[in-house]
Amino acid sequence: MTHKVTILGATGSIGRSTLDVIARHPDRFEAFALTANERIDDLARLCAEFRPRFACVSDPMLHVRFKQLIKEAGVKTEVLSGPEGLLDVASHPEVDQVMAAIVGAAGLRATLSAAKAGKKILLANKEALVMTGPLFMNAVKDGKTTLLPIDSEHNAIFQCLPANAPGQLGRHGVRRIMLTASGGPFRTRARADLGSVTPEEACAHPNWSMGPKISVDSATMMNKALEIIEAHWLFGAATNQLQVVIHPQSVVHSMVEYADGSVLAQLGNPDMRTPIAHGLAYPERIDSGVKSLNLPSLGSLTFEEPDLDRFPALRLAYAVIAQGNSASAVFNAANEVAVAAFLNHQLPFTAITDVVEETLAEVPLMPSDDLDGVLMADALARTCAGTLVSRRSGGTRRVG
Ligand code: NAD
Ligand code: MG
Repeated sequence: MTHKVTILGATGSIGRSTLDVIARHPDRFEAFALTANERIDDLARLCAEFRPRFACVSDPMLHVRFKQLIKEAGVKTEVLSGPEGLLDVASHPEVDQVMAAIVGAAGLRATLSAAKAGKKILLANKEALVMTGPLFMNAVKDGKTTLLPIDSEHNAIFQCLPANAPGQLGRHGVRRIMLTASGGPFRTRARADLGSVTPEEACAHPNWSMGPKISVDSATMMNKALEIIEAHWLFGAATNQLQVVIHPQSVVHSMVEYADGSVLAQLGNPDMRTPIAHGLAYPERIDSGVKSLNLPSLGSLTFEEPDLDRFPALRLAYAVIAQGNSASAVFNAANEVAVAAFLNHQLPFTAITDVVEETLAEVPLMPSDDLDGVLMADALARTCAGTLVSRRSGGTRRVG
C-alpha cells in the first residue's frame, strides 16, 4: 500500500525536492494533494505529472484560472482554494503524511490541523513551530502523531539523539547540541559593506538552493536564530545546551555532544532530499537521489565561532527564549515583514535585524498559550515592524 502525502507548498524549493524523492518511489508514496500560493502554472504542471487527488491554490482569486489550466491538462485533480482548502488537504482522512513546506506564518493553521488530525508531519516550515512553541508541540502530543524535522540541522540532531530523548536530554546524557551554520553569503564580508548588499546577492547562497525568504534569513543569520528556537522546542533543549558553530562547507549538518565527551554528527552533501527522504521513509532508509559524500575531494572541513557583532540575530534568539510568552511570535513576524521589505528594496540589509530588535522592544509580551494569543502577537508585531520599515524608507507604505 502506498503512503498518501499532502505537500503544503508543493511549488517551492522543499516542495519540489519532496516530489523528486516521491517520484523515485512510486511503490511507496503517492502525491495525494499539492498546494501553492500563486504559481498556478507550476502547480498545474506538477498536477499533470503527479496526478494528485486534490490541488489547492491559496489565493482564491486564482481559483477559476487554475481550474481551467487543470482542465486543459486533462487531469482529474479536484481543485480547492483558500485557507479552508489548505485545512482540508492537511487533515483529509486518507492522508498519511503531510510535508509542511509553506514559508512563514502562512503555513501555521494547516500544519496545526494536520497535527491535530494525527497525520505524520514532516516539518520544514520552522516559522510555524517558532511562533507557537508549546502550542504546536501539544498539538503533536494530543494528535499522537510523529513529528519529523526536515530542517537539515534538526534532522541531523534527530538522527544523533536516542529515541525518546526530546524533553529529557539530561537523562539521556546529552550535554549540548551543536547547530552548524554555513555563515551564508556574507560570512567574510565587513560590517561596513553589509549596508549596501542587494537582495540578489543575499539570495545567492554558497551551498544551498532555497526560496528567497530563507535565503535572506541565512544571510542575516536570522535563519540560525529561528533554528535555535526551533531546536529549543523540538528537543526540549535549554539555551545553555544550544550552541552554534560556523561550518562553511555545510557537510556536517549538526552534532550532539554527550556527557562522556562523545560527539555524534550527521554528514552528507548539502541537498535537502536527504532529510526529506529520511522523514518520508522513517524509520526505514530509502534512496534520495543524493550523491555519495566524497570526503577526499572536499579535502577539509572547517569550523569557526559565529561573529555576534556582524550577525546579532543569534543573540536575539537566546533573549527571545528567555522572554518566553509571545516573544518568539513577535520575533518571527517582525522578521517576515523586514525580509519582505528588504526583498522589495525598501529596507537596507543591516536594518532587518534592527527592525526585529526594535519590534521586540515595542510590542508588549502577552500569554501565547492559545492560538488567538499567538495570532494577536503576530498581528501587532507586523503592524509595528511595518511602521518601523516605513519610517526608515521615508514612505508610509505598509509592508507585510
Ligand atoms: P519557497 O519560497 O521556495 O516555497 C514556498 C512555498 O510556500 C511555495 O509553494 C508557495 O506557493 C507557498 N506559499 C508561500 N506563501 C504562501 C501563502 N501565503 N499561503 C500558502 N502558500 C504559500 O520556500 P522554501 O525554500 O521551499 O521553504 C519552505 C519552508 O521550508 C520555509 O519555512 C523554510 O524556512 C523551510 N526550509 C527550507 C529549506 C530549503 O532548503 N529551501 C531548508 C530548511 C527549511
Ligand atoms: Mg536549516
